[in-house]
Amino acid sequence: MLRSNKGRKDTCKYCEGNGYVTLLLGGSETCYACKGSGNKKSR
Ligand SMILES: [Zn+2]
Repeated sequence: MLRSNKGRKDTCKYCEGNGYVTLLLGGSETCYACKGSGNKKSR
């Protein structure tokens, strides 16, 4: 496991740890990448 880029360890890059993503049309949706956990999937 490489650790490039300091900071954010397991934060999902799609939702930045929010657990959801903002849609262009408005509103938000549960992040599909982390399924709302806000963490990058590790397994
Ligand atoms: Zn996410």
